[in-house]
Amino acid sequence: NRQWVLRRRPDDAISEGDLELVERPLPMLTDGEVLCRNIYLSLDPTQRIWMSDREQYLPPVGIGQPIRGGVISVVADSRSTAFRPGDIVRPAIGAWEDYTVAPEKLVRPLQDLGGAPLTAWMSVLGSTGLTAYFGLMDIGQPKPGETVVVSAAAGAVGSIVAQLAKMQGCRVVGIAGGPDKCAWLRDDLKLDGVIDYRNEDVGAALDRLCPDGVDVNFENVGGPIMDAVFSRMNDFGRMPLCGMISTYNNEGPVPGPTDFSRILMRRLLVKGFIVIDYFPRAAEALGVLTPLVRDGRLKWKTHVVQGLENAASSLGLLFSGGNDGKLLVQVGPE
Ligand code: NDP
Repeated sequence: NRQWVLRRRPDDAISEGDLELVERPLPMLTDGEVLCRNIYLSLDPTQRIWMSDREQYLPPVGIGQPIRGGVISVVADSRSTAFRPGDIVRPAIGAWEDYTVAPEKLVRPLQDLGGAPLTAWMSVLGSTGLTAYFGLMDIGQPKPGETVVVSAAAGAVGSIVAQLAKMQGCRVVGIAGGPDKCAWLRDDLKLDGVIDYRNEDVGAALDRLCPDGVDVNFENVGGPIMDAVFSRMNDFGRMPLCGMISTYNNEGPVPGPTDFSRILMRRLLVKGFIVIDYFPRAAEALGVLTPLVRDGRLKWKTHVVQGLENAASSLGLLFSGGNDGKLLVQVGPE
């Protein structure tokens, strides 16, 4: 069983020698356990956080331990009466590895998607979709006519948020890097405004595109982009703080907005959230997202890298913007 393990904690972007692909024997199955052959592995910005020992919401990955990650698998062997070889499943806790052994109570069967590809379970109908749905609907609470700004808008989470906000009748402005991603947001997702932060001044563009200020700031990036949106938020605005990807390669405390008093003066709701806290409510989100996917009303992209051996070198795509859609690694055949 090939496994990517953490050899040392990266001090910036992950580099040669931080991770190592090792070969380890598979443990013998005991009663109630399932052997899952991994098909897709989810690469997520948060995995860079787990590789560090900074303040975080789960225990960091230990030195010598496999890199934790979401997987979709096919049952290869089973000592559980609930699962048979060939079943397509999602173990609750996977890793960057060929095979995952999981106790049956931590394995979920996947229903038929009515034609949607298996990768949908790793993106729009997986944690990505849940993050977008609950962050926007629960915390952002968008109302028709309001202005919603989404950062990393062409990414996996951001693109779902932007479309859901449009469906709520909001004016949606997306911030993304480069003309191609911006064109997709404008022409395919029909956003009301797009800002190419690599090629234009974000503050000036926000003034032009959001003359009446910002009601919801769905924040994925942090840093100066966050500050530019935050400083234009309206009274009673909401900011679902979903991610701060621009800061994940740095150690130490992360500075906040330059004017913290705006939270008070404008009576803002700024709420950080982690999707795992919403897992018990997954059915609620899937009840909305599944028909949208089935009817083709929600668009999403996946960026699939072939081969477990390429997982470590591909994580950096999330930080360079080199990914075009939800970043996955295909570990083995469907
Ligand atoms: P994406 O598909 O959005 O990929 C990440 C994107 O972030 C890149 O493509 C890039 O887009 C953008 N980006 C990276 N670095 C910077 C930077 N320095 N400045 C501006 N943009 C940058 O990934 P996800 O959808 O998986 O994740 C998006 C965000 O959501 C992350 O912050 C992640 O941590 C967060 N998240 C939070 C969850 C939660 O539970 N709270 C769950 C899942 C994700 P571009 O080309 O436009 O620069």
